[in-house]
Amino acid sequence: MSETDFDVIVVGSGCAGAVAAYTAATAGKSVLVVERGNFAGAKNMTGGRIYSHSLKKVFPDFEQEAPLERKITHERIAMLDPRSNMTIDFTSDELGQEGKDSYAVLRAPFDQWLASKAEDAGAEYICGIAVEELIKDDAGRVIGVRAGEDEITAQVTILAEGVNPILSEKCLGNPRPKASQMAVGVKQVFELPAGQIEDRFLVPEGEGAAMLFVGDCTHGSVGGGFLYTNKDSISLGLVATISTAADASNPHPVYQMLEDFKNHPAVAPIIKGAKLVEHSGHMVPEGGYGMVPKYVFDGCVVAGETAGLCMNMGYQVRGMDFAVASGQMAGEAAVEAIDKGDVSEAGLSSYKTAMEGSFVIQDLKTFSKWPHVMEGWDSMFTDYPVMVKEIFNAMFSVDGAPQKPLMKRMMPIVKKRGLLKLAREMRGAVKSL
Ligand SMILES: Cc1cc2nc3c(=O)[nH]c(=O)nc-3n(C[C@H](O)[C@H](O)[C@H](O)COP(=O)(O)OP(=O)(O)OC[C@H]3O[C@@H](n4cnc5c(N)ncnc54)[C@H](O)[C@@H]3O)c2cc1C
Repeated sequence: MSETDFDVIVVGSGCAGAVAAYTAATAGKSVLVVERGNFAGAKNMTGGRIYSHSLKKVFPDFEQEAPLERKITHERIAMLDPRSNMTIDFTSDELGQEGKDSYAVLRAPFDQWLASKAEDAGAEYICGIAVEELIKDDAGRVIGVRAGEDEITAQVTILAEGVNPILSEKCLGNPRPKASQMAVGVKQVFELPAGQIEDRFLVPEGEGAAMLFVGDCTHGSVGGGFLYTNKDSISLGLVATISTAADASNPHPVYQMLEDFKNHPAVAPIIKGAKLVEHSGHMVPEGGYGMVPKYVFDGCVVAGETAGLCMNMGYQVRGMDFAVASGQMAGEAAVEAIDKGDVSEAGLSSYKTAMEGSFVIQDLKTFSKWPHVMEGWDSMFTDYPVMVKEIFNAMFSVDGAPQKPLMKRMMPIVKKRGLLKLAREMRGAVKSL
């Protein structure tokens, strides 16, 4: 193999890129990371909470070192109609157990910490410049990148450019994700003293809650709201489909949805008096396994969301644990291929084997039908929250009139929706979960 400037070049320093760089640098390879943001995390956004299992494999002491916000020990799911809220609040020791634990994070500090780990391991960083092209030799093998005026070569290029796979499409021939496979997320961060967060969410000191909302938060269109408690702030936002966002005739544009969501009686008291300090927007891949492209090429592997690795289950959002794990596997495969002197697609195929053998591809495959179920399940976002309100009103309100037995109060509510239709919808959803 001819001399190259670096053993490995990593494009993008999000969760996937930084971990890939750390892994390759730790194995003694010369690594360059090119990040278009002025610093790692400058352009990145998440809800969000990271499930820690894959991070722990790379950084066993991450709890002591990483800028984590709060350990999530309360899971809440809320169904909203315009004037009602039914919330399930679940907590258990298991949620906090090592290996099953998850933490709220803010990406600017978190990504800078990940980048610092890669740099401490020996990776070099260029920030503030975007890779515009993957360069190839005459045989079509990727041999490096072009960033601005510079052409920099490497034996292996790891592409971790995130959700908008521009280079993957332009230089590797991967398909552009369909609009139906993408959603848009908007988020605001509100400062609130730690004690008030603990009081408002009924969580012990240092612990926190994750909340997902369905129904009126998106005014009944497919999508949902989210809320995560940080140390002394709250991350609040929502995700809507691209078709909703792009529909000019939609009476509720996404920015208005967020304003209305913040004013909903279930949300307004939570952020009352809190100071808005940040606003961001980002795309979210929601196509599941159906949008995973080819991710091993001659001289190049693709990691994180560029490889379509993200899952929105409605009750659970995962992307960062996939990104961390795929970054680690990509770094390991690059090292192995370089050591054996074969960085062709075949030489890098251990990446595909590792991905397929891990939770990353297996979970995406297991839940591959879910995105389609969600897309076609309008009543989950419109009528179910109303039905839930009617059921709980029938159960809890007392007006002094003689009450019918509970079943007799419930059945008309369920029957008017069609028992068979409800059963069919529930069966379809359960089968895809
Ligand atoms: C609203 C929202 C809520 C979410 N909630 C959660 C959650 O709660 N839990 C969870 O696990 N996941 C969540 N996700 C998903 C999660 O954020 C992503 O899956 C994860 O960040 C993907 O990591 P990545 O490294 O692949 O990409 P990113 O973190 O996006 O990193 C890509 C990096 O590449 C850089 N880059 C792009 N193009 C170039 C270029 N040409 N040259 C150089 N650099 C480039 C970018 O600046 C960026 O730093 C959420 C996402 C959104 C949008």
